[in-house]
Amino acid sequence: MSTYGIDLGTTYSCIARLDSNGNPEVIRNNEDDSNTVASVVFFENANNVVVGQAAKENVETDGDRVVQFVKREIGKRDSRTYEFDGKTYTPVEISALILTRLKNLVEAQGGTIEDVVITVPAYFGLEERSATRQAGELAGLHVLSLINEPTAAALSYCARQFQEDRTILVYDLGGGTFDVTVVKMSMAQNDAGNDVQKITVLATGGDDRLGGKDWDDRLYNYILHACCDENGLTPEEIEAETRQDIRSKVEEAKRKLSKKQSAKVRIDVNGSRTEIVVTRKDFENMTGDIVAKAMNFVDATLEKVPAEAIDTVLLVGGSTYMPMIKNAVEAKFPGKVQQHDPDQAVAKGAAIYASMLVEEVGALSDGEETSTGESSHAEQLTSKFTVEDQTPRSFGPGVVDTTGAKHKYVLENFIKIGEKMPAVFTKTYYPLEDNQERVLLRAFENRSTDDTLIPCVDEDGNPQATDPAHYVKLLGELVVNLPPNTSRDTPIKVTFKVDASGVHVEAVNTKTNETFETFLRTESDIDVERSAVHQLRISSD
Ligand code: ADP
Ligand code: MG
Repeated sequence: MSTYGIDLGTTYSCIARLDSNGNPEVIRNNEDDSNTVASVVFFENANNVVVGQAAKENVETDGDRVVQFVKREIGKRDSRTYEFDGKTYTPVEISALILTRLKNLVEAQGGTIEDVVITVPAYFGLEERSATRQAGELAGLHVLSLINEPTAAALSYCARQFQEDRTILVYDLGGGTFDVTVVKMSMAQNDAGNDVQKITVLATGGDDRLGGKDWDDRLYNYILHACCDENGLTPEEIEAETRQDIRSKVEEAKRKLSKKQSAKVRIDVNGSRTEIVVTRKDFENMTGDIVAKAMNFVDATLEKVPAEAIDTVLLVGGSTYMPMIKNAVEAKFPGKVQQHDPDQAVAKGAAIYASMLVEEVGALSDGEETSTGESSHAEQLTSKFTVEDQTPRSFGPGVVDTTGAKHKYVLENFIKIGEKMPAVFTKTYYPLEDNQERVLLRAFENRSTDDTLIPCVDEDGNPQATDPAHYVKLLGELVVNLPPNTSRDTPIKVTFKVDASGVHVEAVNTKTNETFETFLRTESDIDVERSAVHQLRISSD
């Protein structure tokens, strides 16, 4: 089978497929003896680029040649680039290197890989999504689709334990991000009139700067200070090699503490061997505040969906292996917590979705029996799911509000974050002035649900300050040419349509029936046109 699901994570990535029985399985990373690949790239020299655990081992000693957390940069308009040995790498190219490593895992084990589904956080906007897709294509993969990480996690959970009409809170604590998502699984009818299980995202929340790394940092400091105490040194006297030694052992110690009550760490402190013992209790005491901080994000998300509505809490992400997390979530949602391979669930769900898309499994379960003679949960379910995505952002045009004493260029938020896709909205506007030769219709993306916002460029296309909390971005511009002598009362009907692949913007001159349209996939860089008064106005007279 050549269809795979890929969890391209901030700190760890994972690749899965369905086995011959239709059950999801992860492709092992034998080199690192792990189910995942560290999303870390080390540019050793012009001829050697290393991805995975070996790259991670150079963070302290060779940090300026190591790239990690690149997912935070991907698809950001002002994202940085990386320079090594005279070559410049974009976040898309770095991500492609990680994807290539995953592809190589499959090939090294004799598999072939063609079609893939890659997962993205539910809050990723169009630019981040299309950049992720580009990274896949650059790695030589055919990207069938992207799927939201919590949706994938819910899919893999339901393939295991099917229940109708469930509201699931996905608590995904990874290495560098914490995502809280409420998804609803419900029965619905598809276009053909068949019953299907529909998955919708009801609410998203979390913190893109909270994750296992925070626990690592605390443990690192604890061990560093313990090493100082043991050897009568100050932290400044600790050599870089010793720091790297601690750094590379911290994560292992943390993982040990998920299984055992204490962990022994042996560190070479400036040449002298030192043994530090950390107990689980010590570890929990030094990190209790981070557990509480994460729970505050759960509470904030539950302001959008009442806690009573939650049937199941699904623990996802490698950091939920820590008993302190499971205990805290259990205390809040007694009897509702589920945890199954938390570091693999997202990739497995993506594999199930990929198979749904190519209908391999659907064809199998229609007639043939599987090699064990019975069809698996996954098989029975995959042909019955439909994933209903919601708009990851809000969208709207920039128009001039002439109702006040002073003209004001505003963003009218047509389509709000969380609407069912495809989302369509139409409104009629008018040229700002008589005899205008053209109209420059700008499309914006943001994370606010307010009806109007300040756009990130002014009327003339110059950058302007907007509330950073709203993440307002310019997606593109549509030029609408007007015939000579067009009066300022000519209605121009503007339509925005958002679906999973992008934003379609259309403007119709209702006097001439001329239609102008553009499709914003957002991967192209936009040269903002700087020119005065070519705008549309909101009707006021
Ligand atoms: P991502 O952040 O890329 O989504 P994961 O969900 O795999 O990645 O989470 C990675 C984090 O989980 C890392 O911080 C890692 O140290 C942590 N982790 C993995 N296994 C364990 C474990 N057994 N105990 C504690 N933490 C773990
Ligand atoms: Mg993850």
